[in-house]
Amino acid sequence: MKRISKCIIVLLLTVIISGCAPTSSPATGGATAQAPTVTATLSTAVTPTVTPTVTAESKGVENLIIIIGDGMGQAHISAAQQVYGRHYGFTDWDSTLINTNAINEQGEASVLTDSAAAATAMATGVLTLRRRVGMDKDETVLTTFLDLARQKGMVTGILTTETLLGATPAGFSAHVKNRFDPQEVFDSQIDSGVDLLCGAPDPICAANREQILQAGYYYCDDISGIDAEPSKKQYWQLDTLKTSPEVEPVSLAELSVAALDHLDAKGEFIMIIEQAHIDKFCHDNIFDRTVHSVDMLNSTVERVMEWVGERTDTAVMVLADHETGGLVLDPEAENSYFSPITGEQIAYEYTSTNHTTDEVKLFWHGFEPNIAALPYFGERDRIKNSDIFYMVCELLELKAGAEGK
Ligand SMILES: [Zn+2]
Repeated sequence: MKRISKCIIVLLLTVIISGCAPTSSPATGGATAQAPTVTATLSTAVTPTVTPTVTAESKGVENLIIIIGDGMGQAHISAAQQVYGRHYGFTDWDSTLINTNAINEQGEASVLTDSAAAATAMATGVLTLRRRVGMDKDETVLTTFLDLARQKGMVTGILTTETLLGATPAGFSAHVKNRFDPQEVFDSQIDSGVDLLCGAPDPICAANREQILQAGYYYCDDISGIDAEPSKKQYWQLDTLKTSPEVEPVSLAELSVAALDHLDAKGEFIMIIEQAHIDKFCHDNIFDRTVHSVDMLNSTVERVMEWVGERTDTAVMVLADHETGGLVLDPEAENSYFSPITGEQIAYEYTSTNHTTDEVKLFWHGFEPNIAALPYFGERDRIKNSDIFYMVCELLELKAGAEGK
């Protein structure tokens, strides 16, 4: 009886939910993928029951650039602007708060997330357990919006300041049970079909160079060589941080433009750019490197917006996957940082060395998501991280089973 009731609920939800909700997925990893909307709805009481829409002005958008600040809470953005004495233009864009929570084994929400579950929620519309990468809590392989974009004939790219095997890039491109199994992440990611993969040098990637070449990628670990074989898929191992005295770091902003140029020459595209190090320095409570990482993200946003220029076919999102460090700016806070740029003292305090449940923000440019159509927003005045999937699908008209061009 229970099983029959569950089937009826699934059928009803499948009928109710139309538009971008995929009903099948590409073969990935041999497991059966499933419609993310239905899973999300059954997993938690806080996911949307209708597909959100975008406004008529959003039609005509063909490309999407998503810039993720891993761990970037609202205080982080404020702190960086104070330290650097700059106003970050993206903070003037339209925005909403995001609830970032994951789920537990029982499918209940309100669980502190990690970058794997957060990326999976945004990429697939399905809330999942911490450590899961592109899989739901029952280890079902999920379809990402990058998968759907490729089915539509678009090209896709992922660029990060950390290794490609990190939880955020993995959540958008791989399907494994545990983020901490890097070889499995590598094997799954290399089969994902993502057209451009760029991350910090990683020994597993370097050791598996032959596998990368066999998968049809041009492998590049020197910035001077990135244009050598543009007809191929691209696998770049380039460092945006000065992790070695011998290696000059590559600018994240300029690397982002190189990646955009590459994808744009091939067709309509989705590009994901991650500043992973806000999170890392917040775990260690290192304030100056935290704000430097946020400022690097802002420089990248500014350079990307120069690249977009007057184009109306390209939308941009700036968002965070969760807050890290519980950063608080308060005149009474116990720590003080002297800004050599503004000459001001900034009082701050980290209240955690982990992620927190603080809401983060999504800023958007070049389109108008109708977030008021989301039940979660209607009830709580903020979106759920899994709603990002629906926004992207709606904006780019992504549907399962779309014919390739
Ligand atoms: Zn973290």
